[in-house]
Amino acid sequence: MPNKTAYEEVLEKLKPYHAKLIAVSKTKPPEDIMVLYRKGQLDFGENRVQELLDKQAELPADIRWHAIGHLQRNKVKSVVPFVHLIHSVDSPRLLREINKRARAEERVVNCLLQFKIAEEESKYGFDRATAWELLGSEAFKAYRHVRICGVMGMATFTDDMDQVRQEFQRLRRLFDELKTTFFAEQDSFREISMGMSGDYAVALEEGSTMVRIGTLLFGPRPGH
Ligand SMILES: *Cc1c(COP(=O)(O)O)cnc(C)c1O
Repeated sequence: MPNKTAYEEVLEKLKPYHAKLIAVSKTKPPEDIMVLYRKGQLDFGENRVQELLDKQAELPADIRWHAIGHLQRNKVKSVVPFVHLIHSVDSPRLLREINKRARAEERVVNCLLQFKIAEEESKYGFDRATAWELLGSEAFKAYRHVRICGVMGMATFTDDMDQVRQEFQRLRRLFDELKTTFFAEQDSFREISMGMSGDYAVALEEGSTMVRIGTLLFGPRPGH
């Protein structure tokens, strides 16, 4: 069962920053989502496509579903009809596929560019050069069915909060540079999705506009 006290506490902490809570419900049953939904939570994040599809089909239609995990191109088609925001756009080819499938659905899909900010090798995401090349390209300028709303990143999983802070600062600087270089005229480019259960306080101090929190709200997941 979700921890309602923790939920209230997180909302209190977000308030002065005007940041949004994405409740990360991966591996948790629909009943757990409904507990927070009844308290007014509408934004939920999932990292596996099949689980996202199953929950979306079963749960209230006004839930805003956030895709936060690495997305394979062959799964894009199934989430594009309903997804509220894809946080994990980590390659030019994935963005091209989202644009193509969104065109077929006559939708404009909200996306964040995920950047690699952690030390760990395994994390997905753009590096600076690849993002700059993409956003400056003619191909990108022709995309009519994706809306780039900002950036997302995950810090290294460590207790060293100085390191975490530096990584969040890097993401914040990337956001600022992208804003002035490519999105100065676009109000919709304004989100910095950073911060999880263990580091969201630091993320808020460094300019996060969206935190993605699972464990604190729903308890530990199997295998953790
Ligand atoms: C699981 C997950 C989270 C939430 O992590 P917690 O530590 O449980 O808060 C946030 N972002 C992404 C991308 C995740 O996969």
